[in-house]
Amino acid sequence: MRLIDHFIAGGTGGVAPARKSPVYDPNSGVVQAEVALGDAALLDRAVAAAQAAQPAWAATNPQRRARVMFNFKALVETHMDELAALLSSEHGKVIADSKGDIQRGLEVVEFCCGIPHVLKGEYTQGAGPGIDVYSMRQPLGIGAGITPFNFPAMIPLWMSAVAMATGNAFILKPSERDPSVPMRLAELWLEAGLPDGIFQVVHGDKEMVDAILDHPAIGAVSFVGSSDIAHYVYNRGVAAGKRVQAMGGAKNHGIVMPDADLDQVVNDLAGAAFGSAGERCMALPVVVPVGEDTAERLRAKLIPAIAALRVGVSTDAEAHYGPVVTAEHKAKVEGWIAKCAAEGAELVVDGRGFTLQGHESGFFVGPTLFDHVTPEMDSYHNEIFGPVLQIVRAKDFEEAVALPSKHQYGNGVAIFTRNGHAAREFAARVNVGMVGINVPIPVPVAYHTFGGWKRSAFGDTNQHGMEGIKFWTKVKTVTARWPDGSPDGGNAFVIPTMG
Ligand code: NAD
Repeated sequence: MRLIDHFIAGGTGGVAPARKSPVYDPNSGVVQAEVALGDAALLDRAVAAAQAAQPAWAATNPQRRARVMFNFKALVETHMDELAALLSSEHGKVIADSKGDIQRGLEVVEFCCGIPHVLKGEYTQGAGPGIDVYSMRQPLGIGAGITPFNFPAMIPLWMSAVAMATGNAFILKPSERDPSVPMRLAELWLEAGLPDGIFQVVHGDKEMVDAILDHPAIGAVSFVGSSDIAHYVYNRGVAAGKRVQAMGGAKNHGIVMPDADLDQVVNDLAGAAFGSAGERCMALPVVVPVGEDTAERLRAKLIPAIAALRVGVSTDAEAHYGPVVTAEHKAKVEGWIAKCAAEGAELVVDGRGFTLQGHESGFFVGPTLFDHVTPEMDSYHNEIFGPVLQIVRAKDFEEAVALPSKHQYGNGVAIFTRNGHAAREFAARVNVGMVGINVPIPVPVAYHTFGGWKRSAFGDTNQHGMEGIKFWTKVKTVTARWPDGSPDGGNAFVIPTMG
């Protein structure tokens, strides 16, 4: 059986792992590899390599660090087909979607190509007599990233590119369910000119996560995953004195106003609710038509659109989406479908028991549609993370704004309308971190910033853009006085002022 080893100091872990975890091909249900599960001793080796390499990397001028980013971007583009095939083979998303996953990560690398400009500090000449004040952003030292299965390229790149461009060493603990793409990225970083020890990969489960959270030499931890674990990671990391950002789960709503272009909405919803088998934190698993007439018209158009969806293996170029990631996850999604039906919602299209001819052991779930879902239901309150769309009917705009605003999650939300005033009101008032106006998956571009509210994110700083730069650096402010030689006559015992 192929072993996926760690990536330490520019090479593999090199010791037989005490524990391993299976990596499946979700299309066939077959175990295709095993990933080593590391422990605190393994992490110590990665930290030692990072400590050895980071000071010289931090002292490398930002323009040279940017050149590594440029080289890496070109290399990933050259290897796009290979990386996308590898990603799809472990995750199950279709190849075109895997390319999107990689491309969205690369866009953060592109942002980091401009790091010399971004790192320019503030400067005040003449803040007082002979006094200048300036600030600089310095790296934290060693940062770690703990990432989920659903974006095995994009999310590690969100974190690592910014962390490294700003002069940190970065240790990645990717999901144990699809660990191969991060390993290829590690090799490509090296080929791009990154020194050994600046990007390393340690695999593992809770044991490794705890070792990272407790390690005194790791200054910052960026986490993306489910909310309960995000909350745990945030609390434990902060208690250990680290800077922590921990992004959690989501239940994004799409509000459909009576004046919306319903054909466009249905097209957008099909992709946003069912693309990547619904395994996206910015998926739209809840649609809120405003008014009974809108609900009826939307439902009538959704049913045939769902019937036309093609579920297939991830290499099927015609497929809209592929299998979910594991048999366990398939069982969980099907469990939520049963629960939602038991709670009294109308099961309009049932995706349970879906099988694909020739791939009967694959982890496929058919597209599922519920109508008359209500806010009291557990299946509404919780994240399902599968190809399941729930219709929650709202009588008016106020009720529609209140639904996502009161939900425990606040990652993304979208409104579909032709009414600029309604859209503007909605964007201003809704209690959610990322808003789309006629944009179903409003993932901000790399030079803006990504982050949800409420139980979708713990900590104050978002991913990438200037928020990412802030997260991975600390500000030092220097007040410098170059006296002209004449006595200043000040009273050294009084707090100095510039007055
Ligand atoms: P997960 O929480 O199971 O795993 C995330 C990471 O935590 C993995 O690296 C995993 O190894 C580790 N982990 C698992 N169990 C742990 C434990 N008990 N203690 C410590 N660490 C543990 O998440 P997942 O299933 O891989 O990913 C899907 C989740 O991620 C969904 O909830 C989705 O909404 C969320 N997500 C959020 C965002 C966002 O930006 N808000 C983005 C992508 C995914």
